[in-house]
Amino acid sequence: MNLFDLKGKAALVTGGNGGIGLGMARGLAAAGARVAIAGRDAKKNAAAAQELGNAVHLECDLKDAAACRAMVEETAKRLGRLDILVNNAGINIRKTPQEYSIDEWREVLDTNLTSAFVAAQAAYPHMKRAGAGKIVNIGSMMSIFGAAFVAPYGASKGGIVQLTRALACAWARDRIQVNAVLPGWIDTALTKRARQDVAGLNERVLARTPAGRWGEPEDLAGIAVFLSSKASDFITGTAIPVDGGYSSSG
Ligand code: NDP
Repeated sequence: MNLFDLKGKAALVTGGNGGIGLGMARGLAAAGARVAIAGRDAKKNAAAAQELGNAVHLECDLKDAAACRAMVEETAKRLGRLDILVNNAGINIRKTPQEYSIDEWREVLDTNLTSAFVAAQAAYPHMKRAGAGKIVNIGSMMSIFGAAFVAPYGASKGGIVQLTRALACAWARDRIQVNAVLPGWIDTALTKRARQDVAGLNERVLARTPAGRWGEPEDLAGIAVFLSSKASDFITGTAIPVDGGYSSSG
């Protein structure tokens, strides 16, 4: 199916060394793309890169805007081009709103939202020059719903959707499509911690998810390939849930 063929394309996945990012990176690599992954943990980066077949791996703290720009430039240099950017890296700090320090607020916003903007800005000239590009931003169910323990996380994930729409409008005529993916509850390091911290979460997720199970990182591979391929060339500015029906269920 050459509609989904990514041979000859170069992709950068932030937070691609584990969880959802690695699930998407596996999908992109299987569709033929050359992949670069970025994260803070050099060991995790090296292991994931090896699994992906000697992918480029970059050690980078995305809270630092200069490092974030350098990550994009280094990817374009090492892969010779940049066609696909997946802004996936993200963290959560769970507290009631009144408990957050301003530094904790900034840590979540800088990691989850500002880094996506900065990386997209840095990727733009490469995609514009190539005459096409794909940007995939990772939102959350917290892009749609509220919860008591996610004030900065929810703000960052709501912001991701609006950032996606703004970039989509601005760059559509450059043939750069920008879309968001809203994962439901996916079994990763991030949610393993949540399951430990929040009593009853596991049962609530299973009860509300029509598919009756947690998602796996591999469940995100298909949407990553679709939104990175020419199959989605007339789709831009959308926010697509990949959630086993969670957001459709009352
Ligand atoms: P993981 O904790 O498994 O992975 C997070 C990834 O982000 C890691 O690769 C981590 O690498 C990287 N990362 C975190 N902070 C930074 C930073 N400052 N600089 C560079 N890299 C960083 O989480 P998930 O796979 O679950 O989450 C991935 C994305 O999906 C996030 O945006 C999350 O909000 C979103 N999401 C997850 C859901 C779920 O149910 N799991 C549901 C909805 C959305 P390293 O530690 O090496 O820096």
